[in-house]
Amino acid sequence: MLPVFESMENRGHEEVVFCNDKDTGLKAIIAVHNTTIGPALGGCRMWDYESEEDALKDVLRLSRGMSYKAAIAGLNLGGGKAVIIGNSKKDKNEILFRSFGRFVQGLAGRYITAEDVGTSVKDMEWVRMETRYVTGISRALGGSGDPSPVTALGTCSGIKATVKRKLGKDSLSGLKIGVQGLGHVGYHLCRYLHREGAKLYVTDIHEESIKRVVDEFGANVIGLDEIYDAEIDIYAPCALGATLNDDTIPKLKCSIVAGAANNQLKEEDVHAQMLKDRGILYAPDYAINAGGLINVANEIEGYNRERAFTQAEEGIYDTLMAIYEKSEEDDVTTQMAASKVAKKRISDVSKLKNVYLPKKNVMGKRDNA
Ligand code: NAD
Repeated sequence: MLPVFESMENRGHEEVVFCNDKDTGLKAIIAVHNTTIGPALGGCRMWDYESEEDALKDVLRLSRGMSYKAAIAGLNLGGGKAVIIGNSKKDKNEILFRSFGRFVQGLAGRYITAEDVGTSVKDMEWVRMETRYVTGISRALGGSGDPSPVTALGTCSGIKATVKRKLGKDSLSGLKIGVQGLGHVGYHLCRYLHREGAKLYVTDIHEESIKRVVDEFGANVIGLDEIYDAEIDIYAPCALGATLNDDTIPKLKCSIVAGAANNQLKEEDVHAQMLKDRGILYAPDYAINAGGLINVANEIEGYNRERAFTQAEEGIYDTLMAIYEKSEEDDVTTQMAASKVAKKRISDVSKLKNVYLPKKNVMGKRDNA
């Protein structure tokens, strides 16, 4: 088994909670990575892990990623994540999620949960029965609902920033953009890109998803593997992770990679460097796809859809510009520059702690306001 304290120490974790409820069958781990900027927010993943060690590794890795993602997005949130060990197709029920909700409530707002891989809005509504510290609930219950349109708008804005930086253009008009994956985010991204005048080249494993963007936005269809060596200006991964690897990077003819998928680089340092060496400008995934996080973060203050969309559109553009400047200044990959920018914000905000402020209620309202 992974040495827990050593692993926490290595990645800088504050707290790891092992949740065990014999009566409901809940086995979960909540990891709070860093709360310098604010309460740790991050989704709850349900996965049939092969071992407890795999679950622990996953929650430690993912929660650290959330600290950087929130910091770089300019949100007053820290990084956290939870994993429930179990099969999301078979093992879900009200009592399991309510039990998880009680453990979240026990952390009194140090961790705020949300849906993630293997969990849904409905599961979060069960969690909501036991705790206020949950986001990503349905619009009908005052939540923010499906985050995909906000993620797509943020991604479109990030593509515009990357085009400005790499090609010196203010418009996407006439640019050839390859969109891989036409699901929740990919579909809306095509909608925004079409509105900006881009020419779309799309691929998906589902015929119906392709047909929809062809019919609605006049997209051109390309094969699943053709996307890598297609004559396009921009490759926008919106399906799977690890599509930037030893096999695909040498094939790319585009000068920009900017899309919403998580964990696009198979090996972060190696493949970010490979892209840099080939002169391809890469928009770090966790910076460009932060729209979904910005959306749920808005829920904490009382959801305002217009504010969430504006924050995603304007914030992600500026964040990417800051990353590109840092990358040039320090002559490092954009991935490395992004983590430097994120760490600097965490460190800068920590300086504020010298000034005394009355206690703050983590769900947004000052107690004495
Ligand atoms: P989704 O499951 O709705 O869509 C994924 C699409 O990719 C599906 O249409 C699927 O058929 C297609 N696909 C699968 N394998 C493919 C392949 N080999 N080639 C081409 N297409 C393939 O997921 P989503 O919510 O649209 O998310 C897409 C990506 O963006 C994921 O990596 C997700 O983690 C990331 N992301 C999503 C959000 C959000 O708000 N939904 C936020 C941040 C990051």
